[in-house]
Amino acid sequence: MSVLVKDLSKQYGTQLALDNVSLEIIKGEVVGLLGPNGAGKSTLMKILSCFIPPTSGTASINGFDVISDSMEVRKLVGYLPENNPLYTDMFVREYLHFIAGIHKLGKNASGRIDELIEMTGLAIEVNKKIGALSKGYRQRVGLAQALMHNPEVLILDEPTSGLDPNQLVDIRALIKSLGKEKTVILSTHIMQEVEAICDRAIIINKGRIVADDSTLNIKQKQKNNVLEVQFEEPVKADSLRQIKGVKNLREISSRHWLIEYHEKENLRKNLMQWAMNKDLNIASLQQKSLSMEEAFQELTKG
Ligand code: ADP
Ligand code: MG
Repeated sequence: MSVLVKDLSKQYGTQLALDNVSLEIIKGEVVGLLGPNGAGKSTLMKILSCFIPPTSGTASINGFDVISDSMEVRKLVGYLPENNPLYTDMFVREYLHFIAGIHKLGKNASGRIDELIEMTGLAIEVNKKIGALSKGYRQRVGLAQALMHNPEVLILDEPTSGLDPNQLVDIRALIKSLGKEKTVILSTHIMQEVEAICDRAIIINKGRIVADDSTLNIKQKQKNNVLEVQFEEPVKADSLRQIKGVKNLREISSRHWLIEYHEKENLRKNLMQWAMNKDLNIASLQQKSLSMEEAFQELTKG
């Protein structure tokens, strides 16, 4: 077991930021921590990387407790904080030497820094000051920093926020390749990101875990009472409303509708009966599957 969290809570004053969270992450998994702003993602990540202590409960990495064995945990974890705070006045290599010093790499520092520059694609920008780098390259520096001591677990807090579409693709690819060798926990509020990079998603809302599964299962488990129907003839909303069980309609075109229905009704049957009576032909009829985004909205509303 790489990461083990049990009954973890964090209270800031009167604010309960994490509410009895438990989870397990096995070695090599790439897990997306999803949740709206204020859900508690950063709080959980800060506890796992020994930046703040929990109020109650336990968290450990490879069996080392984040409080009683924090020195061991720090060796095992690489952490990219939210907003990636960097020393903008430092040159890239200078900054990486500074980080190498913190990890006491000694005479191995230069070799390791060269490796990281290569691995994170920093070579062409390496002679610039961090302040002069684009956001995408700053994220590479942040990743190099997190990887310095070759940690087994990478904790990346919103690693792609604020990147343009090209940078986004590059950084995702880099994270994905890192995920082949390491356990990765990343936070994001972009569902497609989790689908693109992660094996599994943990959705948190108001400090609690509301889903913990593969993205596919999360989508499938969300109840979804919407049928997508296409007719061969144009159909009017008033007419569709006559069908027993119809709750809401969305018109894509006069022949193509999304019908939300009351859970207990067999809308498929009612609709076919209705179409037969009206002498209408159904070209296609299917349960509309939820996107990850819609599943997320369902799970985190209220
Ligand atoms: P997320 O990263 O999911 O946006 P956070 O973990 O940053 O969420 O925050 C969870 C909740 O805890 C929020 O309501 C936030 O306002 C609150 N919070 C976070 N840090 C502090 C702090 N240092 N003091 C007081 N409240 C905090
Ligand atoms: Mg956060």
